[in-house]
Amino acid sequence: MPSIDVMPCRERPEPQRVLELAERLPGLIFQLHRSEAGHLHFPHLVGSGTRFLDLDPGVLAGDARPALERVHDDDYPRLMAAIERSVRWCTPIATKFRLIVQGEHCRWIAVRAQPQRIESGVLWHGMMLDISEQVAEEERLRALSDTDALTGLANRRKLLQRLDEEISLSNRHATPLSLMMLDLDHFKAINDTWGHLQGDEVLASLAGHCQGLLREEDLLARLGGEEFALLLPLTPRAHAERLAERLREHIAAQDYGMESGRVTVSIGIAEHRVGDARDILMKRADDSLYRAKHQGRNRVVAGR
Ligand code: GH3
Ligand code: MG
Ligand code: MG
Repeated sequence: MPSIDVMPCRERPEPQRVLELAERLPGLIFQLHRSEAGHLHFPHLVGSGTRFLDLDPGVLAGDARPALERVHDDDYPRLMAAIERSVRWCTPIATKFRLIVQGEHCRWIAVRAQPQRIESGVLWHGMMLDISEQVAEEERLRALSDTDALTGLANRRKLLQRLDEEISLSNRHATPLSLMMLDLDHFKAINDTWGHLQGDEVLASLAGHCQGLLREEDLLARLGGEEFALLLPLTPRAHAERLAERLREHIAAQDYGMESGRVTVSIGIAEHRVGDARDILMKRADDSLYRAKHQGRNRVVAGR
């Protein structure tokens, strides 16, 4: 094994030692140059991270395009906008993007770079780090915080967030939007008769049965207990009513493995009125549900 000098060095380190250190960095450091005409190339590119680029630094020294072509289509415009902003305002680049490696496989890369105006254009001094593991962990935690553990459906938090987004779209484009509230009928009796565990199983399988009847853009969420909400973008009340009937019949026809009786739901519907707040839409759907319960359960009521 070669001997490595780890003693503190008071003088300027030799260029060779700096280069050796840079080659071992767990990422890469670079200089990126942009000519006045907009041509990009990497005059310097060192560090063990050049492996995730999987491209010859010699080629990239003349032309950055082979690396830029590997940036994911969804991230390319954001990265180029960050570069252009940095040129215009002389502010640092700080962004992240996906890099396609080995065909389909993606790595998340964070980039930070400081611009310097020089005679021939702009020269950035920067670094890139592979942050794929960190991003995967963030995505896992985000999914957990949005998911109901028993049914795997979206939870209340996620529903409220999507409601805000869809209400704002509906207000802007005057597109229809409906909300359904579903509540299992006499669920307390199911728990009392068959036990809480069987009750949990009913909730989980019911969630699965309903999902099968929905479109990808619909959002079924468990609000808590035996209450669910279904958000239906681009859906007027009459369509929501037909879907609610199908759901109600489908649930009532299922065999949940209990000897006696079926599981039924009551459903309340409200269609968003442009300009109304989220709470008003939820309250109107709740009022419809209350009426469905009051009128005898196992039925659908759509409010005007
Ligand atoms: P209604 O037709 O008026 O809706 O009657 P209900 O019995 O369904 O309504 P109520 O609100 O009186 O009772 C809801 C019951 O749901 C109470 C509780 O036993 C049950 N429940 C709430 N959360 C859970 C859960 O996570 N698992 C199970 N198994 N039961 C739950
Ligand atoms: Mg109930
Ligand atoms: Mg309830």
